[in-house]
Amino acid sequence: MKHESYGFDTLAIRSGQQRSSELEHSEAIFVTSSFVFENAAQAAARFAGDQPGNIYSRFTNPTTQAFERRLAAMEGGEACVATASGMAAITSLCIATLSAGDHIVSSRSIFGTTTTLFEKYLPRFGIETSFVDLTDLDAWKESIRDNTRMLFLETPSNPLSEIADIRSLADLAHENNCSLAVDNCFCTPALQRPLELGADIIVHSATKYLDGQGRIVGGAVVGPKALVDEDLFGVIRTTGPSMSPFNAWVALKGLETLNLRMNAHSQNAMQLARFLEQHPRVEKVYHPGLETHPQHNLAKIQQHGFGGVVSFVVAGGREAAWRIIDSTELLSITANLGDVKTTITHPATTTHGRVSDDVKARTGISEGLLRVAVGLESVDDIIADLARGLDG
Ligand SMILES: *Cc1c(COP(=O)(O)O)cnc(C)c1O
Repeated sequence: MKHESYGFDTLAIRSGQQRSSELEHSEAIFVTSSFVFENAAQAAARFAGDQPGNIYSRFTNPTTQAFERRLAAMEGGEACVATASGMAAITSLCIATLSAGDHIVSSRSIFGTTTTLFEKYLPRFGIETSFVDLTDLDAWKESIRDNTRMLFLETPSNPLSEIADIRSLADLAHENNCSLAVDNCFCTPALQRPLELGADIIVHSATKYLDGQGRIVGGAVVGPKALVDEDLFGVIRTTGPSMSPFNAWVALKGLETLNLRMNAHSQNAMQLARFLEQHPRVEKVYHPGLETHPQHNLAKIQQHGFGGVVSFVVAGGREAAWRIIDSTELLSITANLGDVKTTITHPATTTHGRVSDDVKARTGISEGLLRVAVGLESVDDIIADLARGLDG
């Protein structure tokens, strides 16, 4: 299939598949750890790298490759390598591109476990990270040192949906011989394609919207062929966090409906945000689709939709926030997101529970804050489920 000429939905449904000799219509799952050779000479050629082809599923697997090719096509990237989780993608990226003595500048508002990786584990290997406010371009500039190699961010951020100016940060990275890596988990390529805006590398947690139905844990890195097919592929086949073929198949089939789902998530989230915005007990709503959002105009240009996450502050602090959670009958009380099922979280005591009070105060993680990852149920039912605790 010629990728370049097709639209996004066609790529999502058709790209990446290579039919086997059985001529199956839907993509097959190749549940096998190893592959056989026609003869000794072929085995030798494959191991020597003189002949392309499968050897062992820690290296390559046809189902996993179908997922990789499809996600690369959708992100507009040259190559993709799938990983066992989103964290495996981020860790592998660091191992593949950084060395002792290198430095990262990262947004402060990133996934909690990524912060732990940067703060606790990478320093043991001589890699330091400076954290900055996602939206403060001057702070990014001032934090770059001679040994800075990577800028890292998520946009929109979790849970407050701040928006980074990807193009400006890509320019800044390139002026300083750095690469810009974007965790594109919240928008997915359906709503935002950072490579088109100048970013160099995309990381994904396939656990979230790519699967979209809460079934698997997985991840991926998308980027230039030389980086992904050589450096990253080498790290993953050596260190072992490969994606299993079954998980790859689930995520692959998830991609087929990604655009439909992301638009539906965005619509439901927008309606919920509008409801919350006018509710007398709600003090603040964080959603990039609202005109009151400080980067609403940037989100409109940079994204093709506003995404499925809505956070809000209820009057009455933790007690009021917990009452809303405990009054729900439909919503799932869980920290996961990117699922057809709507989830509700109290960040201050869960995802951000170990963050110091000082940082919480500075980053807006207040006791009255709730995060809703809006699913695809009937939006009136989602609103009614939250209204019960808000009105009660
Ligand atoms: C969940 C998540 C990750 C980590 O992904 P796992 O699949 O859980 O390892 C990374 N970044 C973001 C933004 C996430 O939401």
